Amino acid sequence: NKIQVKDLAEKINISPNKLISKLINFGVMAGINQEIDFDTASIIASEFNYELRLDKKTDEEESKDKSYDSLDFEDPEESLQLRPPVVTVMGHVDHGKTSLLDAIRETNVTQKEAGGITQHIGASAVTINNKKVVLLDTPGHEAFTSMRARGAQITDIAIVVVAADDGVMPQTIEAINHAKAANIPIIVAINKVDKSEANPDRVKQELTEHGLVPEDWGGDTIFVPVSALKRMGIDELLEMILLVAEMQELKANPNRKAMGTIIEAKLDKGRGPVATVLVQKGSLSIGDAVVAGAAYGRVRAMLDDRGKRVKKVGPSTPVEILGLSEVPEAGEHLYVVEDDKKAREVATRRKEVIRNEQLKVNQKVSLEDLFERIKQGEVKDLNIIIKADVKGSIEAVKQSLEKLSTDEVKVNPIHGGVGAITESDIMLASASNAIVIGFNVRPTNTAMEIANKENVDVRTYRVIYTAIEDIEAAIKGMLTPEY
Ligand code: GDP
Repeated sequence: NKIQVKDLAEKINISPNKLISKLINFGVMAGINQEIDFDTASIIASEFNYELRLDKKTDEEESKDKSYDSLDFEDPEESLQLRPPVVTVMGHVDHGKTSLLDAIRETNVTQKEAGGITQHIGASAVTINNKKVVLLDTPGHEAFTSMRARGAQITDIAIVVVAADDGVMPQTIEAINHAKAANIPIIVAINKVDKSEANPDRVKQELTEHGLVPEDWGGDTIFVPVSALKRMGIDELLEMILLVAEMQELKANPNRKAMGTIIEAKLDKGRGPVATVLVQKGSLSIGDAVVAGAAYGRVRAMLDDRGKRVKKVGPSTPVEILGLSEVPEAGEHLYVVEDDKKAREVATRRKEVIRNEQLKVNQKVSLEDLFERIKQGEVKDLNIIIKADVKGSIEAVKQSLEKLSTDEVKVNPIHGGVGAITESDIMLASASNAIVIGFNVRPTNTAMEIANKENVDVRTYRVIYTAIEDIEAAIKGMLTPEY
């Protein structure tokens, strides 16, 4: 059960070179004509959002091989079942993200099991009308986007909290643009409506200017007035989450080997490496052989978000697992493989890579190689983040940039904001393969460090004209290199 590198590349629609680089990432050195095993191929394919399945018709022997049958990665439509939505709360500082998360969890606990203590494992599940909603514990678009930059897309719906007494603020806009860049639906929670200064209509008005038009004003964004403090509107908010989830038809096959993402992980003195996994596909059971980055092992025990021991969990369930060989990185994917040997094999390869970070291939877009990448058909959208010292520049740059779009490449400003280039801008650029341009602003030191690490192209200008000229030249392949 092996596949040639060039055949795999063709099947998953990427260039063989790109595939070879990805394999190197996983510590597998293979040439274009060499063969790799099915497990490795499946894992690589899933990184590119493809699921591999062995074609049973070609070889009767293979179809008898049960161990591979169970690795059947393509989930047929009829195997898919509805799964609970996974939600992240975002918004400006002090607008009530943490309070809202607490309110949702407490409302739920008092309903279900008064006195029950919620464990902090990185995510938790609440139930309304017998339906589950999963909440990620770390609020904010920074956490959300840094997961995305590591290739982990785990959130289905973003709740953007806006305080009714304060209105739309810079981080509200950031949150909205981060959610939009990830292509996930947004529900607006207008918080603090208990306050006498609360002005929900102002929030609606301001958000309309940013493309979020409330349903009662003819748009399609759901707004829910809440008070996290007074526990008002919480059930309505949860119901709206379920409604949006229903429209998205979130589905997964619960009856296959599990695949999930590490949400957080730590070394516990008594218990060894402990990791919270959000199971996304399939079911994870005690005793399963798993690999998550360089970590591997057998699931020795599983605890849910209430600290209860569980034996088997399905899609959209956060669980804390014990039994890994080391602490995996948050954002790593976790896969169930057939046995310990396989788990160790995959993890060992991955470990080599982590050691040889210099092998990491740069697949991020930069103005230097833009023309080449457009020609190869690898880049169809040039995503740009604009930071400036004054608001007026952002709008001006945005409009000039959009006009540079050609048949081959669409110039796409995904976020604009006033102020220095921050860590959050860089992570958004990294997650969305964007470049960052600044006008009369500079990156902070941390932002610069991360930009270097993440290979994000950051450019600063004093005049708008020069920036437009540079980008236009890059699109046409006429950019003169920077010294
Ligand atoms: P975060 O920074 O977005 O996580 O905001 P917090 O949840 O820490 O809340 C910031 C402040 O707003 C705290 O002092 C909260 O008590 C207060 N707050 C949060 N929600 C409400 C609300 O619904 N009504 C009122 N009056 N205050 C609230």
